[in-house]
Amino acid sequence: MIKRFIRRVLGLDAPGPLRVPQSRHGISSNSISSGALKVCDVLADHGHAVYVVGGAVRDLLLNIEPKDFDIATDARPEQIKPLFRRALLIGRRFRLVHVMLGRETLEVSTFRAADNQSTEKDQHGRVLRDNVFGTLEEDARRRDFTVNALYFDCRSGEVIDYHGGLADLKKRTLRIIGDPEARFREDPVRMLRAVRLGAKLGLSIDASTRAPIKRLAPLLEHVPPARLFEEMLKLLLSGHANACLRQLRHEGLHKGLLPLLDVILEQPLGERFVTLALAQTDERVLADRPVSPAFLFAALLWHEVLAAWKMRDKRGEPRIPALEAAMDDVLEAQSVKLAITRRLTATMREVWAMQPRFEERSGQRAQRLLELPRFRMAYDFLALRAASGEVPAELETWWRAFQSADPEAREEMLLPDTRPHNKRRRRRRKGNANDAPPQP
Ligand code: ATP
Ligand code: MG
Repeated sequence: MIKRFIRRVLGLDAPGPLRVPQSRHGISSNSISSGALKVCDVLADHGHAVYVVGGAVRDLLLNIEPKDFDIATDARPEQIKPLFRRALLIGRRFRLVHVMLGRETLEVSTFRAADNQSTEKDQHGRVLRDNVFGTLEEDARRRDFTVNALYFDCRSGEVIDYHGGLADLKKRTLRIIGDPEARFREDPVRMLRAVRLGAKLGLSIDASTRAPIKRLAPLLEHVPPARLFEEMLKLLLSGHANACLRQLRHEGLHKGLLPLLDVILEQPLGERFVTLALAQTDERVLADRPVSPAFLFAALLWHEVLAAWKMRDKRGEPRIPALEAAMDDVLEAQSVKLAITRRLTATMREVWAMQPRFEERSGQRAQRLLELPRFRMAYDFLALRAASGEVPAELETWWRAFQSADPEAREEMLLPDTRPHNKRRRRRRKGNANDAPPQP
């Protein structure tokens, strides 16, 4: 008895992981990418433990085609790199190796230890750096959800499960590993991941995992805006953006990301516009058609731009410079929370700035707009505005017809120039850089 007690205290009797043979879990080696199989082979040949891990194993068990294959091994980054012709050491927060094989890039990471005393954290408990290497068991413990901590052994075909991930998948439950509050404090982005993975995989978030989320939502404010942007992008391009955003609002998680979303969604026009934009994006993602993140963010923030524009207009500012200034206001306020990359904001500005130009359907103006490189995106944006009731449907129909008409028909479609004070306006605009047409 005493012997058993001592063994248990020392952890020697701790139940080992579940090892499920290939015949029972059903992942066929054929469904593992050739690159992942190759990396596993090379590392195993050099005597290392190596597994496919994370999203790929989870997705295969759910019959979803994985986006990519992540590999976990006991080999250190500096041991991994020389084994492959094209391999890069990357990451500061997590050091890992990118192995390029043909068109595939495999992320190969060394087993890491979970949180311990030496882990560097901020005052809210957020982990700043964790590069302490560990065992397979420790690596499993530091992963976020049980369904993400499943390891596929390419040689034996077994799935190794330390935290009941297989059972949770069967129950269609997303459960965090360990104490939910502590794990969300270590990395608040896990709360966003819970929402995204829940929606993408059709799993419901386990009650005790979900319980602290509303209370801890403000912790997202301390996450670097660039990381939030990355996660938000994944969420919006997941094919379930509409469901995710609804769930984010339900959990109070959107406040640190898109603070004015509530205000936008409260007005019927704003809600209709955002819902339509997200539905369209989801449809495209699920049909494997390309989507533009710039278009999406432009849509999410449009009604904020409109509000700021209206306010400046009321103050008597000239219309076009007022729009430019409104765009600045919104993008600046947003960048504190969510660092939308400069490449994206440049496109968003072009799309927004082109909107008032759709109202000009006379002479060369319409023709010139048509020739701008962002015309198609800006027109799609106009179509959303029309569908949501913000601008007359007739405006969108006209531009649709105008685009596809031949040059003569186009000439006939042009409306007479009825704008008042044309000459005076042109003179006043001269030399106003803000008012220049969008650059390609
Ligand atoms: P998908 O690729 O479908 O978005 P994923 O689960 O593969 O989902 P990745 O960001 O590719 O997400 O992460 C790979 C794995 O790394 C996860 O499955 C999980 O085991 C682990 N992981 C990722 N982010 C975290 C995190 N914030 N905390 C703990 N573990 C994480
Ligand atoms: Mg992944």
